[in-house]
Amino acid sequence: MVKMPVINNHRMVGVCYFCAIIAAFVLSLVHNNRVEASTDSKDYFAYLMESDNEIVNETDEGAVTNDDFADDIQDNIKAMFEVVDNMVKYENVEKVLEVQKGDTLISVLTKAGITREAANKIYYSIKSDFNPNSLKIGQKIKTIVSVNTQDSTIPAELNYMVIDINAGERVITARNHDKFETFIEQDELLDKTNALQGVINGNLSKSMQNVGVPMRAVNNFINLFAYAVDFKRDVKKGDKFEIVYESQVTKDDKLIKCGKIIYAGLVLRKQKIALYRYEDNKGGVDYYTPGGQALKRTLDRKPLAFRNARISSPFGRRLHPILKKHVIHWGVDYAAPQGTPIYAGGDGVVQAAKYNGGYGNYIKIRHNSEFSTAYGHMSRFAKGMRPGVRVTQGQIIGYVGSTGRSTGPHLHYEVIQNGKRVNPRTIKASTGENLSGQALNKFKQKVDQVNKQYVDAFSGQATAKLAQK
Ligand SMILES: [Zn+2]
Repeated sequence: MVKMPVINNHRMVGVCYFCAIIAAFVLSLVHNNRVEASTDSKDYFAYLMESDNEIVNETDEGAVTNDDFADDIQDNIKAMFEVVDNMVKYENVEKVLEVQKGDTLISVLTKAGITREAANKIYYSIKSDFNPNSLKIGQKIKTIVSVNTQDSTIPAELNYMVIDINAGERVITARNHDKFETFIEQDELLDKTNALQGVINGNLSKSMQNVGVPMRAVNNFINLFAYAVDFKRDVKKGDKFEIVYESQVTKDDKLIKCGKIIYAGLVLRKQKIALYRYEDNKGGVDYYTPGGQALKRTLDRKPLAFRNARISSPFGRRLHPILKKHVIHWGVDYAAPQGTPIYAGGDGVVQAAKYNGGYGNYIKIRHNSEFSTAYGHMSRFAKGMRPGVRVTQGQIIGYVGSTGRSTGPHLHYEVIQNGKRVNPRTIKASTGENLSGQALNKFKQKVDQVNKQYVDAFSGQATAKLAQK
Protein backbone atom coordinates (compact mmCIF):
# COMPACT_ATOMS: atom_id res chain seq x y z
CA MET A 1 0.00 0.00 0.00
CA VAL A 2 1.23 3.43 -0.84
CA LYS A 3 0.80 5.84 1.96
CA MET A 4 -0.37 9.17 0.65
CA PRO A 5 -0.26 12.12 2.99
CA VAL A 6 -3.91 12.65 3.78
CA ILE A 7 -4.77 16.27 3.96
CA ASN A 8 -7.64 17.12 6.21
CA ASN A 9 -9.29 20.03 4.49
CA HIS A 10 -11.35 21.20 7.47
CA ARG A 11 -8.38 21.33 9.71
CA MET A 12 -6.30 23.02 7.06
CA VAL A 13 -8.85 25.75 6.52
CA GLY A 14 -8.97 26.32 10.27
CA VAL A 15 -5.23 26.56 10.40
CA CYS A 16 -5.28 28.98 7.48
CA TYR A 17 -7.74 31.30 9.17
CA PHE A 18 -5.61 31.23 12.26
CA CYS A 19 -2.51 31.90 10.22
CA ALA A 20 -4.29 34.73 8.48
CA ILE A 21 -5.01 36.49 11.74
CA ILE A 22 -1.48 36.04 13.00
CA ALA A 23 0.00 37.06 9.68
CA ALA A 24 -2.21 40.12 9.45
CA PHE A 25 -1.16 41.14 12.93
CA VAL A 26 2.49 40.63 12.18
CA LEU A 27 2.22 42.43 8.90
CA SER A 28 0.55 45.34 10.63
CA LEU A 29 3.34 45.48 13.14
CA VAL A 30 6.09 45.60 10.61
CA HIS A 31 4.44 47.18 7.67
CA ASN A 32 1.89 49.84 7.02
CA ASN A 33 0.86 48.73 3.60
CA ARG A 34 -2.48 47.15 2.94
CA VAL A 35 -2.56 43.60 1.86
CA GLU A 36 -4.08 43.64 -1.56
CA ALA A 37 -7.05 41.39 -1.98
CA SER A 38 -6.06 40.65 -5.54
CA THR A 39 -2.87 38.88 -4.44
CA ASP A 40 -2.65 35.41 -5.82
CA SER A 41 -4.05 33.29 -3.03
CA LYS A 42 -1.93 30.30 -3.96
CA ASP A 43 1.25 32.28 -3.50
CA TYR A 44 0.01 33.27 -0.11
CA PHE A 45 -0.74 29.68 0.59
CA ALA A 46 2.83 28.78 -0.15
CA TYR A 47 4.00 31.80 1.78
CA LEU A 48 1.96 30.98 4.82
CA MET A 49 2.72 27.31 4.82
CA GLU A 50 6.40 27.88 4.50
CA SER A 51 7.70 27.53 8.01
CA ASP A 52 11.30 28.44 7.35
CA ASN A 53 10.35 31.60 5.57
CA GLU A 54 11.01 34.56 7.78
CA ILE A 55 8.60 37.38 7.47
CA VAL A 56 10.93 40.24 6.88
CA ASN A 57 9.76 43.49 5.49
CA GLU A 58 11.42 46.84 5.30
CA THR A 59 10.35 48.86 8.32
CA ASP A 60 8.30 51.91 7.74
CA GLU A 61 10.00 55.16 8.42
CA GLY A 62 7.12 57.21 9.78
CA ALA A 63 5.85 56.86 13.34
CA VAL A 64 2.66 54.92 13.73
CA THR A 65 -0.09 56.06 16.05
CA ASN A 66 -2.19 53.65 18.07
CA ASP A 67 -5.33 54.47 16.08
CA ASP A 68 -3.61 53.89 12.77
CA PHE A 69 -2.29 50.67 14.13
CA ALA A 70 -5.73 49.42 15.16
CA ASP A 71 -7.20 50.34 11.76
CA ASP A 72 -4.37 48.58 10.02
CA ILE A 73 -4.96 45.43 12.00
CA GLN A 74 -8.65 45.51 11.15
CA ASP A 75 -8.06 46.15 7.46
CA ASN A 76 -5.38 43.55 7.24
CA ILE A 77 -7.49 40.93 8.96
CA LYS A 78 -10.32 41.70 6.51
CA ALA A 79 -7.97 41.42 3.56
CA MET A 80 -6.45 38.22 4.81
CA PHE A 81 -9.89 36.68 5.25
CA GLU A 82 -10.57 37.45 1.60
CA VAL A 83 -7.33 35.73 0.67
CA VAL A 84 -8.26 32.71 2.73
CA ASP A 85 -11.76 32.70 1.23
CA ASN A 86 -10.14 32.42 -2.19
CA MET A 87 -7.85 29.76 -0.89
CA VAL A 88 -10.73 27.61 0.32
CA LYS A 89 -11.72 27.10 -3.30
CA TYR A 90 -8.54 25.11 -3.67
CA GLU A 91 -8.88 21.58 -2.59
CA ASN A 92 -6.36 18.78 -2.56
CA VAL A 93 -7.88 15.79 -4.23
CA GLU A 94 -6.50 12.34 -4.86
CA LYS A 95 -6.68 11.52 -8.54
CA VAL A 96 -5.72 8.27 -10.16
CA LEU A 97 -4.70 8.90 -13.76
CA GLU A 98 -4.64 6.05 -16.22
CA VAL A 99 -2.27 5.89 -19.16
CA GLN A 100 -4.24 5.57 -22.40
CA LYS A 101 -3.03 4.47 -25.82
CA GLY A 102 -0.72 7.09 -27.31
CA ASP A 103 -0.22 8.86 -23.98
CA THR A 104 3.03 10.30 -22.70
CA LEU A 105 3.59 11.36 -19.11
CA ILE A 106 3.09 14.95 -20.21
CA SER A 107 -0.18 14.23 -22.00
CA VAL A 108 -1.51 12.28 -19.01
CA LEU A 109 -0.75 15.22 -16.75
CA THR A 110 -2.09 17.93 -19.04
CA LYS A 111 -5.31 15.94 -19.48
CA ALA A 112 -5.63 16.04 -15.71
CA GLY A 113 -5.64 19.83 -15.89
CA ILE A 114 -1.99 20.48 -15.12
CA THR A 115 -0.26 23.15 -17.17
CA ARG A 116 2.13 22.12 -19.89
CA GLU A 117 4.87 24.07 -18.13
CA ALA A 118 4.38 22.19 -14.86
CA ALA A 119 4.12 18.87 -16.73
CA ASN A 120 7.47 19.61 -18.40
CA LYS A 121 9.04 20.36 -15.02
CA ILE A 122 7.70 17.08 -13.66
CA TYR A 123 9.04 15.24 -16.70
CA TYR A 124 12.54 16.63 -16.19
CA SER A 125 12.39 15.97 -12.46
CA ILE A 126 11.48 12.32 -12.88
CA LYS A 127 13.72 11.54 -15.86
CA SER A 128 16.86 10.55 -13.98
CA ASP A 129 15.02 8.05 -11.74
CA PHE A 130 12.43 6.71 -14.11
CA ASN A 131 12.08 6.61 -17.86
CA PRO A 132 8.73 8.33 -18.50
CA ASN A 133 8.58 6.60 -21.89
CA SER A 134 8.36 3.23 -20.17
CA LEU A 135 4.79 3.91 -19.03
CA LYS A 136 2.44 1.17 -20.16
CA ILE A 137 -1.11 1.47 -21.40
CA GLY A 138 -3.46 1.01 -18.46
CA GLN A 139 -0.80 1.91 -15.90
CA LYS A 140 -2.15 3.90 -12.98
CA ILE A 141 -0.53 7.09 -11.75
CA LYS A 142 -1.63 8.17 -8.30
CA THR A 143 -1.61 11.91 -7.71
CA ILE A 144 -2.65 14.55 -5.26
CA VAL A 145 -3.62 17.65 -7.17
CA SER A 146 -4.81 20.95 -5.90
CA VAL A 147 -7.85 22.01 -7.89
CA ASN A 148 -10.00 25.09 -7.80
CA THR A 149 -13.41 23.77 -6.87
CA GLN A 150 -15.27 26.83 -8.08
CA ASP A 151 -13.44 27.67 -11.25
CA SER A 152 -12.40 24.70 -13.33
CA THR A 153 -10.70 26.91 -15.90
CA ILE A 154 -7.90 27.56 -13.41
CA PRO A 155 -5.21 24.90 -13.97
CA ALA A 156 -4.77 22.21 -11.36
CA GLU A 157 -1.50 21.92 -9.53
CA LEU A 158 0.21 18.66 -8.90
CA ASN A 159 1.49 18.27 -5.35
CA TYR A 160 2.35 14.60 -5.24
CA MET A 161 2.65 11.81 -7.77
CA VAL A 162 3.34 8.10 -7.35
CA ILE A 163 4.24 5.72 -10.16
CA ASP A 164 4.81 2.06 -9.31
CA ILE A 165 8.01 0.80 -10.93
CA ASN A 166 8.09 -2.74 -9.61
CA ALA A 167 6.25 -4.53 -6.87
CA GLY A 168 7.33 -2.83 -3.65
CA GLU A 169 9.13 -0.04 -5.50
CA ARG A 170 7.80 3.30 -6.70
CA VAL A 171 8.97 6.65 -7.93
CA ILE A 172 7.55 9.63 -6.08
CA THR A 173 7.51 13.21 -7.31
CA ALA A 174 6.58 15.90 -4.80
CA ARG A 175 6.15 19.60 -5.20
CA ASN A 176 8.60 21.82 -3.41
CA HIS A 177 7.34 25.34 -4.09
CA ASP A 178 7.51 25.78 -7.84
CA LYS A 179 9.99 22.94 -8.26
CA PHE A 180 9.49 19.19 -8.28
CA GLU A 181 11.63 16.67 -6.48
CA THR A 182 11.70 13.01 -7.35
CA PHE A 183 12.88 10.07 -5.33
CA ILE A 184 12.55 6.31 -5.32
CA GLU A 185 10.81 4.61 -2.44
CA GLN A 186 11.32 0.94 -1.72
CA ASP A 187 9.36 -1.15 0.72
CA GLU A 188 11.31 -2.88 3.41
CA LEU A 189 11.39 -6.57 2.51
CA LEU A 190 11.05 -9.47 4.88
CA ASP A 191 12.45 -12.94 4.30
CA LYS A 192 9.89 -15.66 4.55
CA THR A 193 9.99 -19.42 4.30
CA ASN A 194 6.87 -20.97 2.85
CA ALA A 195 5.79 -24.58 3.33
CA LEU A 196 2.94 -25.59 1.06
CA GLN A 197 1.45 -28.88 -0.01
CA GLY A 198 -1.49 -30.05 -1.99
CA VAL A 199 -3.18 -32.81 -3.87
CA ILE A 200 -2.53 -32.94 -7.59
CA ASN A 201 -5.80 -32.64 -9.39
CA GLY A 202 -5.02 -33.31 -13.02
CA ASN A 203 -2.52 -30.56 -13.70
CA LEU A 204 0.47 -30.25 -11.34
CA SER A 205 1.21 -26.65 -12.24
CA LYS A 206 -2.40 -25.56 -11.66
CA SER A 207 -2.71 -27.56 -8.47
CA MET A 208 0.40 -25.86 -7.10
CA GLN A 209 -0.79 -22.41 -8.09
CA ASN A 210 -4.15 -23.11 -6.48
CA VAL A 211 -2.56 -23.36 -3.04
CA GLY A 212 -0.55 -20.19 -3.66
CA VAL A 213 2.81 -21.39 -4.96
CA PRO A 214 4.13 -18.59 -7.22
CA MET A 215 4.66 -19.47 -10.88
CA ARG A 216 8.42 -19.18 -10.63
CA ALA A 217 8.59 -21.68 -7.78
CA VAL A 218 6.25 -23.98 -9.71
CA ASN A 219 8.56 -23.95 -12.72
CA ASN A 220 11.65 -24.54 -10.61
CA PHE A 221 9.91 -27.39 -8.85
CA ILE A 222 9.00 -29.06 -12.14
CA ASN A 223 12.52 -28.57 -13.50
CA LEU A 224 13.97 -30.35 -10.47
CA PHE A 225 12.07 -33.49 -11.37
CA ALA A 226 12.16 -33.09 -15.15
CA TYR A 227 14.42 -36.03 -15.93
CA ALA A 228 13.28 -38.30 -13.15
CA VAL A 229 9.54 -37.98 -13.54
CA ASP A 230 7.35 -38.05 -16.58
CA PHE A 231 4.65 -35.73 -15.33
CA LYS A 232 2.13 -36.84 -17.94
CA ARG A 233 2.63 -40.53 -17.32
CA ASP A 234 3.82 -40.94 -13.73
CA VAL A 235 1.81 -38.31 -11.94
CA LYS A 236 -1.77 -39.30 -11.31
CA LYS A 237 -4.77 -37.52 -9.90
CA GLY A 238 -4.63 -37.74 -6.12
CA ASP A 239 -0.81 -37.72 -5.92
CA LYS A 240 0.65 -35.04 -3.71
CA PHE A 241 3.29 -32.37 -3.90
CA GLU A 242 5.18 -30.70 -1.07
CA ILE A 243 7.33 -27.62 -1.35
CA VAL A 244 9.38 -25.44 1.00
CA TYR A 245 10.66 -22.28 -0.65
CA GLU A 246 11.98 -18.91 0.37
CA SER A 247 10.50 -15.62 -0.65
CA GLN A 248 10.76 -11.93 0.05
CA VAL A 249 7.58 -10.13 0.95
CA THR A 250 6.57 -6.62 1.89
CA LYS A 251 5.32 -5.85 5.40
CA ASP A 252 1.76 -6.50 4.25
CA ASP A 253 2.80 -9.87 2.83
CA LYS A 254 2.89 -8.95 -0.84
CA LEU A 255 5.26 -11.24 -2.74
CA ILE A 256 8.21 -9.39 -4.23
CA LYS A 257 10.72 -12.07 -4.97
CA CYS A 258 10.51 -15.81 -5.07
CA GLY A 259 13.74 -17.39 -3.94
CA LYS A 260 15.25 -20.82 -3.76
CA ILE A 261 13.47 -24.08 -3.18
CA ILE A 262 14.71 -25.73 0.02
CA TYR A 263 12.72 -28.90 -0.29
CA ALA A 264 10.66 -30.46 -3.06
CA GLY A 265 8.59 -33.58 -2.62
CA LEU A 266 6.42 -35.64 -4.92
CA VAL A 267 4.30 -38.24 -3.19
CA LEU A 268 3.31 -40.58 -6.00
CA ARG A 269 1.24 -43.72 -5.73
CA LYS A 270 4.23 -46.04 -5.80
CA GLN A 271 7.01 -43.87 -4.44
CA LYS A 272 7.91 -40.66 -2.74
CA ILE A 273 10.67 -38.57 -4.27
CA ALA A 274 12.11 -36.06 -1.81
CA LEU A 275 14.80 -33.59 -2.81
CA TYR A 276 16.74 -31.30 -0.51
CA ARG A 277 18.82 -28.34 -1.52
CA TYR A 278 22.50 -28.44 -0.68
CA GLU A 279 25.10 -25.78 -1.26
CA ASP A 280 28.70 -26.93 -1.15
CA ASN A 281 31.70 -24.95 0.10
CA LYS A 282 32.31 -23.51 -3.34
CA GLY A 283 28.76 -22.26 -3.66
CA GLY A 284 27.70 -25.03 -6.03
CA VAL A 285 24.05 -25.93 -5.57
CA ASP A 286 22.28 -29.18 -6.30
CA TYR A 287 19.40 -31.23 -5.00
CA TYR A 288 19.76 -34.63 -3.41
CA THR A 289 17.61 -37.41 -2.02
CA PRO A 290 17.69 -37.78 1.80
CA GLY A 291 20.56 -40.25 1.33
CA GLY A 292 22.66 -37.65 -0.52
CA GLN A 293 22.13 -39.06 -3.98
CA ALA A 294 21.90 -36.69 -6.88
CA LEU A 295 18.88 -37.05 -9.03
CA LYS A 296 19.94 -37.81 -12.58
CA ARG A 297 18.42 -34.80 -14.14
CA THR A 298 20.22 -34.55 -17.43
CA LEU A 299 20.55 -36.74 -20.44
CA ASP A 300 23.81 -38.44 -21.13
CA ARG A 301 25.58 -36.73 -24.03
CA LYS A 302 27.51 -39.85 -24.95
CA PRO A 303 25.54 -42.90 -23.79
CA LEU A 304 28.24 -45.43 -24.47
CA ALA A 305 30.36 -47.80 -22.40
CA PHE A 306 33.29 -46.65 -24.53
CA ARG A 307 33.75 -43.17 -23.04
CA ASN A 308 36.56 -42.24 -25.44
CA ALA A 309 34.42 -42.77 -28.51
CA ARG A 310 35.09 -40.02 -31.03
CA ILE A 311 32.46 -38.14 -32.97
CA SER A 312 32.58 -39.44 -36.51
CA SER A 313 29.83 -37.11 -37.68
CA PRO A 314 28.50 -34.12 -35.80
CA PHE A 315 24.97 -32.77 -35.59
CA GLY A 316 23.85 -30.55 -38.46
CA ARG A 317 24.50 -30.11 -42.17
CA ARG A 318 26.96 -32.49 -43.77
CA LEU A 319 27.78 -34.31 -46.98
CA HIS A 320 26.21 -37.71 -46.61
CA PRO A 321 28.86 -40.42 -47.15
CA ILE A 322 26.49 -42.75 -48.97
CA LEU A 323 23.91 -40.43 -50.54
CA LYS A 324 26.76 -38.07 -51.65
CA LYS A 325 24.63 -34.96 -51.14
CA HIS A 326 24.19 -32.35 -48.44
CA VAL A 327 21.69 -33.41 -45.83
CA ILE A 328 21.01 -32.37 -42.28
CA HIS A 329 22.34 -34.86 -39.81
CA TRP A 330 19.77 -35.03 -37.03
CA GLY A 331 22.03 -36.71 -34.49
CA VAL A 332 25.60 -37.28 -33.43
CA ASP A 333 27.56 -40.29 -34.65
CA TYR A 334 30.04 -41.85 -32.23
CA ALA A 335 32.48 -44.27 -33.79
CA ALA A 336 32.94 -47.26 -31.43
CA PRO A 337 33.96 -50.89 -31.72
CA GLN A 338 31.26 -53.34 -32.76
CA GLY A 339 29.42 -54.66 -29.68
CA THR A 340 30.18 -51.67 -27.38
CA PRO A 341 27.29 -51.40 -24.86
CA ILE A 342 24.88 -48.53 -25.45
CA TYR A 343 23.24 -46.93 -22.40
CA ALA A 344 19.86 -45.35 -21.90
CA GLY A 345 20.58 -41.60 -21.99
CA GLY A 346 18.15 -41.02 -19.14
CA ASP A 347 15.39 -42.65 -17.14
CA GLY A 348 12.35 -43.33 -19.25
CA VAL A 349 10.11 -45.73 -21.10
CA VAL A 350 10.99 -47.55 -24.32
CA GLN A 351 8.70 -46.34 -27.07
CA ALA A 352 10.17 -48.27 -30.00
CA ALA A 353 12.63 -51.17 -30.36
CA LYS A 354 12.61 -52.34 -33.96
CA TYR A 355 14.37 -52.37 -37.31
CA ASN A 356 13.68 -48.90 -38.70
CA GLY A 357 14.86 -48.45 -42.33
CA GLY A 358 18.05 -46.35 -42.58
CA TYR A 359 18.38 -46.37 -38.78
CA GLY A 360 18.78 -50.14 -38.74
CA ASN A 361 18.12 -51.60 -35.30
CA TYR A 362 16.58 -48.65 -33.51
CA ILE A 363 15.40 -47.81 -29.99
CA LYS A 364 13.49 -44.73 -28.93
CA ILE A 365 13.06 -43.81 -25.25
CA ARG A 366 10.63 -41.25 -23.91
CA HIS A 367 12.08 -39.54 -20.80
CA ASN A 368 9.41 -37.02 -19.98
CA SER A 369 6.94 -34.75 -21.67
CA GLU A 370 9.84 -32.73 -23.04
CA PHE A 371 12.64 -35.14 -23.96
CA SER A 372 13.06 -38.37 -25.88
CA THR A 373 16.22 -40.02 -27.22
CA ALA A 374 16.80 -42.35 -30.17
CA TYR A 375 19.62 -44.82 -30.95
CA GLY A 376 20.43 -46.24 -34.39
CA HIS A 377 22.52 -48.86 -36.22
CA MET A 378 22.66 -51.24 -33.22
CA SER A 379 24.02 -54.69 -33.84
CA ARG A 380 21.40 -56.04 -31.40
CA PHE A 381 19.10 -55.01 -28.56
CA ALA A 382 19.67 -55.80 -24.89
CA LYS A 383 17.39 -58.48 -23.45
CA GLY A 384 13.82 -57.41 -22.80
CA MET A 385 13.82 -54.21 -24.86
CA ARG A 386 10.30 -53.67 -26.14
CA PRO A 387 7.80 -50.79 -26.08
CA GLY A 388 6.49 -49.97 -22.61
CA VAL A 389 9.55 -51.23 -20.73
CA ARG A 390 10.93 -48.83 -18.15
CA VAL A 391 14.68 -48.13 -18.26
CA THR A 392 16.97 -46.15 -16.01
CA GLN A 393 19.82 -43.88 -17.01
CA GLY A 394 22.97 -45.91 -17.71
CA GLN A 395 21.13 -49.17 -18.22
CA ILE A 396 22.38 -51.15 -21.26
CA ILE A 397 19.75 -51.10 -23.98
CA GLY A 398 21.77 -52.48 -26.91
CA TYR A 399 25.14 -52.78 -28.66
CA VAL A 400 27.01 -50.82 -31.31
CA GLY A 401 26.72 -52.13 -34.86
CA SER A 402 26.39 -51.00 -38.47
CA THR A 403 22.84 -51.99 -39.39
CA GLY A 404 20.76 -49.80 -41.75
CA ARG A 405 22.38 -47.04 -43.80
CA SER A 406 25.84 -47.12 -42.23
CA THR A 407 29.45 -47.30 -43.41
CA GLY A 408 30.93 -48.76 -40.23
CA PRO A 409 30.15 -49.53 -36.59
CA HIS A 410 28.89 -46.43 -34.80
CA LEU A 411 26.10 -45.17 -32.60
CA HIS A 412 23.75 -42.64 -34.13
CA TYR A 413 22.32 -40.75 -31.13
CA GLU A 414 19.40 -38.31 -31.32
CA VAL A 415 17.89 -36.09 -28.66
CA ILE A 416 14.34 -35.01 -29.33
CA GLN A 417 13.11 -32.00 -27.39
CA ASN A 418 9.44 -31.10 -27.69
CA GLY A 419 9.23 -33.07 -30.91
CA LYS A 420 12.29 -31.46 -32.51
CA ARG A 421 15.68 -33.08 -32.86
CA VAL A 422 18.34 -31.00 -31.08
CA ASN A 423 22.10 -31.24 -30.73
CA PRO A 424 22.89 -33.75 -27.94
CA ARG A 425 26.19 -31.93 -27.37
CA THR A 426 24.56 -28.66 -26.35
CA ILE A 427 21.83 -29.84 -24.00
CA LYS A 428 22.31 -28.67 -20.44
CA ALA A 429 24.40 -31.06 -18.40
CA SER A 430 24.93 -31.40 -14.67
CA THR A 431 27.53 -33.45 -12.84
CA GLY A 432 24.96 -35.41 -10.90
CA GLU A 433 27.55 -36.62 -8.41
CA ASN A 434 26.43 -38.09 -5.12
CA LEU A 435 27.48 -36.56 -1.80
CA SER A 436 30.01 -38.34 0.36
CA GLY A 437 32.21 -37.82 3.43
CA GLN A 438 32.02 -34.49 5.20
CA ALA A 439 29.60 -33.03 2.65
CA LEU A 440 27.22 -35.93 3.19
CA ASN A 441 27.30 -35.42 6.98
CA LYS A 442 26.62 -31.74 6.61
CA PHE A 443 23.84 -32.44 4.16
CA LYS A 444 22.19 -34.95 6.49
CA GLN A 445 22.17 -32.43 9.32
CA LYS A 446 20.47 -29.99 7.01
CA VAL A 447 17.90 -32.63 6.01
CA ASP A 448 17.09 -33.31 9.69
CA GLN A 449 16.63 -29.63 10.33
CA VAL A 450 14.40 -29.07 7.30
CA ASN A 451 12.36 -32.15 8.18
CA LYS A 452 11.83 -31.08 11.79
CA GLN A 453 10.98 -27.56 10.83
CA TYR A 454 8.73 -28.16 7.83
CA VAL A 455 8.55 -31.55 6.17
CA ASP A 456 7.40 -33.62 9.17
CA ALA A 457 4.36 -31.39 9.42
CA PHE A 458 3.39 -32.22 5.84
CA SER A 459 2.62 -35.86 6.48
CA GLY A 460 0.64 -34.87 9.56
CA GLN A 461 -1.45 -32.44 7.56
CA ALA A 462 -1.88 -34.87 4.73
CA THR A 463 -3.17 -37.53 7.15
CA ALA A 464 -5.52 -35.02 8.73
CA LYS A 465 -6.84 -34.05 5.30
CA LEU A 466 -7.38 -37.64 4.27
CA ALA A 467 -9.16 -38.37 7.54
CA GLN A 468 -11.60 -35.57 6.85
CA LYS A 469 -12.66 -37.06 3.54
ZN1 LIG B 1 24.12 -40.61 -37.76
